[in-house]
Parts: sequence; structure tokens; C-alpha cells
Amino acid sequence: MERHDIEKLRSLPCEGVAKRLGLTVKQHKALCPFHNDHTPSMTFKKGMWKCWSGCGSGDNISLVQKVLGKNFVDACRWLADENNIILTEYEPQPSVLSHQPSFDAARYARFFEHPWLLPEAKKFLFEERRLDERVVRWCRLTSWKDKLGVPWLQIPYYNCEGKLVGIQNRNLIKGALPRFRFPQGSQCGIYNLPVLNLLKPGDELYIAEGCSDCWSLLSAGHKAIAIPSATLLTRDVRSKMEEVRGRFSIQFHMWPDCDVPGERLFLQLQKVLPSLVHHQLPPTCKDFSEYYLKAPSGSPFGGVEEC
Ligand SMILES: [Zn+2]
Repeated sequence: MERHDIEKLRSLPCEGVAKRLGLTVKQHKALCPFHNDHTPSMTFKKGMWKCWSGCGSGDNISLVQKVLGKNFVDACRWLADENNIILTEYEPQPSVLSHQPSFDAARYARFFEHPWLLPEAKKFLFEERRLDERVVRWCRLTSWKDKLGVPWLQIPYYNCEGKLVGIQNRNLIKGALPRFRFPQGSQCGIYNLPVLNLLKPGDELYIAEGCSDCWSLLSAGHKAIAIPSATLLTRDVRSKMEEVRGRFSIQFHMWPDCDVPGERLFLQLQKVLPSLVHHQLPPTCKDFSEYYLKAPSGSPFGGVEEC
């Protein structure tokens, strides 16, 4: 790809690119599509975007890559098509394509062999979220303190084969930024994929938005996975869900967040899973976790077996 073509794509106003990607931009801000955002955290400046809640920053091309799940070259093509820019025909350079750093699973896997919960993590998981201890063990949640003494909850993402593919670190200090941190190359796509191995024909699978809701659903006795909290379904997540639909004869359920992005995500997912059952949260609960907290305690735990 010609350098001046890429420069042209990078110099487009990022706000316009965000709008074409389906984000609602008001007063130069938008709800960040990469986390469960309720106050617009994403801002734009010329050809750049930034999420002030810790999802990172980048240029037009990286925004298209992340939102649509495209590689660098396809993202450039999409941007060019959308903006009537004619690209010089090119041979993809291997150096351009091999930019993605890979995730060093061997380095991190040992953290989750003996999970260790700081008092801050116990308070968050068991007092504030009232999660079942068996769920916390099943999910192998652990915690650590960084050099500045900030406590983090460490959330491992495994694929169906049980291989560690990514880590999400969640700040345990309320309101502190960044809220999340991801080690380099982490692939935090669908959460709790190992639960698929426990599915039997006729089972029910709940689809949550983000891992907190997934833990609550598991604690309430359901089998559950989570898709990333985002306003748009990425291509990777869509194709993975199609694969799950084809592999298992099960019923899919969802309690969409009680807001516009939640309903939009449900409708997008319903296109992939036509039989997806919609459960309505009461208007006083913004997500399933809140609903779960208001439910009488002592709900049966039937989602994942004790291992
Ligand atoms: Zn964000």
C-alpha cells in the first residue's frame, strides 16, 4: 500500500469515521464501543480517537479495525470505499501485516493455577456482587497489586480447549482510571467458552454483555457466556456465535441491558441466533447484575459443576 494513501486515510476527520461506523457522536463525544460505557468516554481530535476509560487510543484505521474486526489492509479498503478515495493497487507488505503482537500465554497461565484473592477482590466479588464462590473458582479469578499499590482483579479468557488466550485486568478502586488493562495481544472476545463443553442437548445458554453479568448469571444457576460490552457486534464474535449455534441444539437467552445500546446489541445478536429469547429487566435495573442483587439470596447454583 502506498504511504501517501495511508496518510490520506489517517488524515480523515475521525469523528466522521466514527459516525460511518454507526457510533452516535454528540458534542465531539461518543459512547465507547469497546467497554460498557454509560457516559460518553470517547473523544476525537482530527484523525485520532481516544477512550478516557482505558480502552486506548488510535487513528482512523485502528478504529475501523477494532469495531469491524478487520485486518489492517481490509480496514484501509473499507475506509477508502466509504470516503471515495481510490487506493493505488498494492501488494500487502508482510511487515505491515505482522504488526499484531502475540499473547504470551506461557508467561501468564501460572497466575491462574493458584488464584489468590486480595481483601479488595473478596469485597467486590462476594459482598458487592454476591457471587457464588464456586463461580469465582470456576472462572479462576485472581488478583494482584501493581507497583503503585493499586489492586486489580485479573480475569482470564480461555478458548473452548481451555487454553489461555487473553487477560482483562479490572481496577478494584471505584471510579479510578484506567478501569481496564489488557496485556499485550490479549484476545478478550467471548468470555467463559469452556462452559460450552458442559452443554447437553436441550440445555439453555445465557448470553451476557461483559463478564460481570456472566458471573451473576452463573451464580443464579444458569450456564452463561459473555460477549464483549460493545455497541457493535464484531465479525469475530458473530462468526463464533454462528459456530456455537451450528454445534449445539440448545436454546439461547439474553437479558439485554436496560438501555438503547443493550437493545441494539440484542437485535444484532438475534440476526445470528434467530431463536434468541428476550428477557425484560425491570426499569429499575440497568443490567442483570443489579437484578441479581435484588433477587432473594440463596438461589440454586446449577450452572457449572464443582470441579
Ligand atoms: Zn472504552
